[in-house]
Amino acid sequence: MSLQNIRVVLVNTSHPGNIGGAARAMKNMGLSRLVLVDPVEFPSSEAVARASGATDILDAVRVVGTLEEALVGCSVVLGTSARDRRIPWPLLDPRESGATCIRQAEQGGEVALVFGREYAGLTNEELQRCHFHVHIPSDPQFSSLNLAAAVQVLAYEVRMAWLAAHDQPSKQEKLETTSLLNAQPVTADELEHYYGHLEQTLIDIGFLDPAKPRHLMPRLRRLYGRSAISKLEMNILRGILTETQKAVRGEPHKRRQD
Ligand code: SAH
Repeated sequence: MSLQNIRVVLVNTSHPGNIGGAARAMKNMGLSRLVLVDPVEFPSSEAVARASGATDILDAVRVVGTLEEALVGCSVVLGTSARDRRIPWPLLDPRESGATCIRQAEQGGEVALVFGREYAGLTNEELQRCHFHVHIPSDPQFSSLNLAAAVQVLAYEVRMAWLAAHDQPSKQEKLETTSLLNAQPVTADELEHYYGHLEQTLIDIGFLDPAKPRHLMPRLRRLYGRSAISKLEMNILRGILTETQKAVRGEPHKRRQD
């Protein structure tokens, strides 16, 4: 599973709560390897509280002294940055980052996503150790995300790329038992039959006066035309009309069974 080849590296984090928040964000997206470079406070109960169940990630955390140690074995390193730096560097947006991570990881490469300090980000020297820089396109007037929120954005993009690579649906598709019938659109001739049936029923119940039809039928056609009615729905509508006509004639009605 390629997600195991991807590590999240947090450099010199001040707030242990952010470490817990990052662990939670990672676990939600199927990432598991967290490396801390010289954290200000860790282990910490605040980190555990913010991890809210992702404590296995905190238990397995690797704490190292330098960024160099954190990156050992990595073939691709992505460094995140809230602002533009003076030295131009190959830049990826989060979506491209997800794809790059998964492409490398699928080939067996080790990948690191590096995040900076809450107050100062990554130093230029640290950023120069990265192959790519990643900027989350936030509002330039207020560009800096909370550290754990930035981890969440990148982890989400990694997951989306992973789901796409493994042909797994990102949407949970609900299959109804009647889905086949329900998915089939009604045809123009079936609709015409329906409009005839509807018009007759509206006359039967006294809602439509054939001598003064006004624009009722065209308006109803427009309404139904917008609805992309399926065959199943058409059956229901036809059933309602049949029962309405029986009721007008005083015939016994049948209960709908489904
Ligand atoms: N004052 C710091 C902000 C750091 S925010 C600065 O100006 O650099 C803490 C970390 O969260 C950053 O180092 C980066 O890893 C991540 N982060 C926050 N906002 C980001 C953004 N818009 N794009 C990419 N990473 C971001």
